[in-house]
Amino acid sequence: MWNSEARTRQIRFAVIVSLLVVAASARATAQGADGNGKDPLPHVVVLATGGTIAGAAASDVQAGYSSGQVGVEQLLNAVPQAKKLAHLSGEQISNIGSQDMNDEVWLKLANRVNELLARPDVAGVVITHGTDTIEETAYFLNLVVKSTKPVVLTASMRPSTALSADGPLNFYNAVAVAANKGAANRGILVVVNDWIHGASSLTKTSTTAVQTFMSPLSGLIGTVAYGEVEWYRGPVGKNTLNSAFTVNNGTVLPRVDIIMATENMDGALIDAAAAAGAKGIVIAGVGNGNMTKSALVALAAQARRGVLCVRSSRVTTGQVGRNVEVNDDSLHLVASLGLNPQKARVLLRLALLTTADPKTIQRYFDEY
Ligand code: ASP
Repeated sequence: MWNSEARTRQIRFAVIVSLLVVAASARATAQGADGNGKDPLPHVVVLATGGTIAGAAASDVQAGYSSGQVGVEQLLNAVPQAKKLAHLSGEQISNIGSQDMNDEVWLKLANRVNELLARPDVAGVVITHGTDTIEETAYFLNLVVKSTKPVVLTASMRPSTALSADGPLNFYNAVAVAANKGAANRGILVVVNDWIHGASSLTKTSTTAVQTFMSPLSGLIGTVAYGEVEWYRGPVGKNTLNSAFTVNNGTVLPRVDIIMATENMDGALIDAAAAAGAKGIVIAGVGNGNMTKSALVALAAQARRGVLCVRSSRVTTGQVGRNVEVNDDSLHLVASLGLNPQKARVLLRLALLTTADPKTIQRYFDEY
């Protein structure tokens, strides 16, 4: 009798213990793999391309330096704090000053980003880049990356050897943004100097100041201070999964030249661009995309011959409107709207892969 009661108590105890264990493990699964209410660290891949963030100088207080001296492993090791935000792995795509950025690196970068983001174990990508052309690379990727996962470009104005180098904190913040749950679906982002910019909005405004990047037309997407992220809005324009443009290793991007309008401009450079094989010309116009009468005559003649001609502006901010002082309809020209000349060139190169019709390309400028 005593034995059977003791046995029943033992069985009850064993059942209660196993129920408690099951409940605890279910709660731990709901909270995250470590059971502490924290998710496991996301895997963020760092693709290094060069730039001042990987630059070095002989002394910490000199202006002269060389871009692209430091490799991706050194970059990662220089900011061990970032390893607390994400599991980081690094790949060297190139090691160049971004003044040397080119189609080969762009295609390699775009294809690698697409490959990485298609993997379920990769949560996001950080790209280190030079500041000179970061806005063009970001906008290019914004149009050809096929994923909603975060892609964050970062850079620095001071080389890694400088007194008060800005690269390490920019890199830390970029990893924090790429690892942040709210970063998905915001297009390609650029994180520099505590600010989160959209690829279509940012532009470099100072040759040397640390606070060089601005998003003058539409403002910031968010801010990030020592890894703490604050989101303000989504991206402007179609991007990534909603973009009609794709590239692969064999893509040949057509030549598009930018010509700056000036006082007394004639049509010589416009004709020279077409003679050099440009399939498109972007005018960095004065004011609202304007140019002299003789430049406009030359441009309209090239447009009639099938060269796609876009009016943008050399002014840092503002829209270039259609049919304001120039009759775009009758001259078969395209107005760049909110895109500056360097970004208008990126969109036009991709658009020309799909069509040479000015009306369709104007629609792309409306939408992207
Ligand atoms: N020339 C450098 C580059 O774009 C400037 C920088 O990174 O700040 O690579």
